Amino acid sequence: MNHYSIGIDIGGTNTDIGLVSDSGQVVRRRRLPTTEYHTAADYMRAIGDTIQQLMAEQKLPSIRSIGIGAPNGNPQSGSIEADTPNLNIKESIPFREVLGERFHVPVTLDNDANAAAIGEMIYGGAKELRHFIMITMGTGIGSGIVINRQILHGSTGTAGELGHAIVQPEGRLCGCGRKGCLEMYASARGICQNYMDAAARVHQPLTAEAAQTLTCQMVGEAALTGNPIAVAAYDTTAYWLGIALANAAAFSAPEAIFLMGGPTRAGEALMKPLKHYFEDNLLFLYKNRIQLRFSELNLNEAAILGAAALGEAATSAAPHAR
Ligand SMILES: [Zn+2]
Repeated sequence: MNHYSIGIDIGGTNTDIGLVSDSGQVVRRRRLPTTEYHTAADYMRAIGDTIQQLMAEQKLPSIRSIGIGAPNGNPQSGSIEADTPNLNIKESIPFREVLGERFHVPVTLDNDANAAAIGEMIYGGAKELRHFIMITMGTGIGSGIVINRQILHGSTGTAGELGHAIVQPEGRLCGCGRKGCLEMYASARGICQNYMDAAARVHQPLTAEAAQTLTCQMVGEAALTGNPIAVAAYDTTAYWLGIALANAAAFSAPEAIFLMGGPTRAGEALMKPLKHYFEDNLLFLYKNRIQLRFSELNLNEAAILGAAALGEAATSAAPHAR
């Protein structure tokens, strides 16, 4: 018999809800506008109703689990914390309590980078691995550290913030209030800044208007066609990311480090220099022993799959072997 689980990806703008088969297919999905809800009760009722619709359409009497990937998701309480930035709802949102009672299934919640890591482990390229790190590249940089097929949560529940490892003391000011975090050099925003710096170095600074409309996708596409300024921007990105990943390797000695997110669409323009700088900065103990790989999950489905995988990982005592 086929089993299905629900994966929910919560963002400040949209909430994506997917019904996922146990072979990792997103068979149905719906989108709710997160911004339209102002109380936790209304929001959770809308999500619950949507889950029920998806089950009815697929003629399912039951589901196996619900997993939720969310910013500020607290895995211990199963809630989104009160006063989460970028959410209109300012009270705590107790998903585990409310959805668990309504559907009588385990409800697992974690931050989106940890969800992505578990998604890779259950449905993607890390099915056979025990120790790996997932780096999610987007507006910011997130990371999920997997040790012995378990997410590392640490004493606070919030371990795995490699995006805020300081790579450049007194460097670019980060949103966290400190200076020189990796996120400011290798996120989508960081890559745009690297491009502007590279352009200024060859005396072709961008106009204010061009700087306003520059996107990481534009830099990536230009790098793939060999544009020297874009290639230099990705080289700088790879340099800082390579150093940060070499440091992360010294901490947990993973078998592989996966990269996911929009900036990875630049493909070899990112991966080739990254492998070079990573190996160059690795301690001898780890040289040529740690793979750098792109995620094998489809980017459009990765967040839902990751969330669904959280629930699946929690319901299976033994690691999945498919
Ligand atoms: Zn920071």
